[in-house]
Amino acid sequence: MSTTNILEMRNIEKEYFGNRVLKGVTLTVKPGEIHAIVGENGAGKSTLMNILFGMPVIYSTGGIRGEVIFDGKSVDIRSPKTALDLGIGMVHQEFMLLPGFTITENIKLNREITRHNPVSKLLGSAKLQTLDIEKMRQDAKKALDSLGMTVDEWLPIAGLPVGYMQFVEIAREIDKENIKLLVFDEPTAVLTESEADTLLGVMKKLSARGIAILFITHRLDEVLAVADSITVLRDGEKVGWMTRDEATLEKIAEMMVGRKIERIKQVAKDVVEGGETALSIRNLRVTMPGEMVRNISLDIKKGEILGIGGLAGQGKIGIANGIMGLYPAQGDVFLGSKRLELNRPRQAIENKLAFVSEDRRGVGLLLDNSIETNIVMTAMQIRDMFLKPFLGIKGIKMADEKAIRTHALKMIKDLDIRCTGPEQLTRRLSGGNQQKVCIARALTLEPEILFVSEPTRGIDIGAKKLVLDLLVQLNRELNMTVVVTSSELGELRSICDRIAIVYEGELEAILSPAASDLDYGLAMAGKYRDRSREAG
Ligand code: ADP
Ligand code: MG
Repeated sequence: MSTTNILEMRNIEKEYFGNRVLKGVTLTVKPGEIHAIVGENGAGKSTLMNILFGMPVIYSTGGIRGEVIFDGKSVDIRSPKTALDLGIGMVHQEFMLLPGFTITENIKLNREITRHNPVSKLLGSAKLQTLDIEKMRQDAKKALDSLGMTVDEWLPIAGLPVGYMQFVEIAREIDKENIKLLVFDEPTAVLTESEADTLLGVMKKLSARGIAILFITHRLDEVLAVADSITVLRDGEKVGWMTRDEATLEKIAEMMVGRKIERIKQVAKDVVEGGETALSIRNLRVTMPGEMVRNISLDIKKGEILGIGGLAGQGKIGIANGIMGLYPAQGDVFLGSKRLELNRPRQAIENKLAFVSEDRRGVGLLLDNSIETNIVMTAMQIRDMFLKPFLGIKGIKMADEKAIRTHALKMIKDLDIRCTGPEQLTRRLSGGNQQKVCIARALTLEPEILFVSEPTRGIDIGAKKLVLDLLVQLNRELNMTVVVTSSELGELRSICDRIAIVYEGELEAILSPAASDLDYGLAMAGKYRDRSREAG
């Protein structure tokens, strides 16, 4: 391996709307080196790679501070084209392929091979040259072959399995002749195990050809299998760098999650140990695209705050969505001795379950309706609340405006919703106050179990604390059972009594908030069960 760096990113700082997402990150890679970047969701990995690739989102949001040195020269990469010209390729987390075109066309897109025909030769015009389809096919086939991929290069992209699309993206990158550095942003997330193995083999081959590789993955065994060196990011900071020889699974896992936890609530030991079960989940499967739940069994204790954590895409989000009937679910869920019929959203609510969705602006709020309408609508529709008889006619009811107003004002006061009044449109509220309206609507259903997903996503730090305090208060004062699903482990560890970590659609561990960073790191990486088994 060469001693000079092909890439050096120095003191990279990036802010998104005042939020510092990269705080002075430095990264170096040598030709032929496979360098892994690991970190929890939101650590800043993709942002760092978007900077390297000159993605428009970076410069439309104020650009960066810091310096990028590529191949010995200070460079200013402000567009993907600049990156490509320098020899930087990127395999994206989201596919960037044209579905209507064939595999060959996608691989050769914008780099079509042309040959002179008699007319173009005569006129010296590049425009009139003929596409050299045969040569393009051969190149595409060569690139695909080197990936060990046996698929016909003339097939259209549309309809290919996702695993294949990933390989077409990679084939497109390695077909480029000047490629010096290749970025893989969570490439194996969509691959089957054997496809992932093939890919790791390909990475090794590319590195042997002198191509440097930046490899982002949350699968730590893949890191240990192929990386020469590893950078760990946490909350926008580089918290670790090590060579493969220095690295262990435990060390990386611990570094990824380590942070100071501020407890907002004492763990309710009596509830957790031996307390009554509020909801019993057995063999739950939920078909929620991107958040599949494969087989979860779990008891939720009466009066606890249960956290559900895990990396994005592992299925944690699917659990509440499945129980609440928003995505197709199978399995057994019992409320005490009563079996809850799944796939019946109305019935879930009638059984005193309420849900604050992670999709606040989608299924959560009616943005062009008032705060009070948002607060009472589900209760009116499903629980027949806030209705009064219409002119004394039997069976006909109308909205009880007075009761609605009284209730809305009480909620605004209790939850401290900052607004001009109950008639204000929810679109005009800040993210934190919108979230409180969602919680108010759920509370209006008088739930025994409150499911809350990603309660602090997209809201500022001050409002985050208020929302978490509110959940603790509901739990403490009303003895409400609360199930919080969150990508922010720190937030779960600050308010929950127990935390269930989900990995690949299954329960990996149930941990105390005081469990070690190591245990959390292993659980998030899907390595906790193995370790417990080894320990006997
Ligand atoms: P990772 O890839 O490590 O999961 P990202 O780089 O995607 O993390 O995100 C880092 C942080 O930057 C997160 O807090 C995320 O919410 C924020 N972020 C990423 N992209 C944008 C964007 N386009 N606008 C605003 N914030 C963003
Ligand atoms: Mg990312």
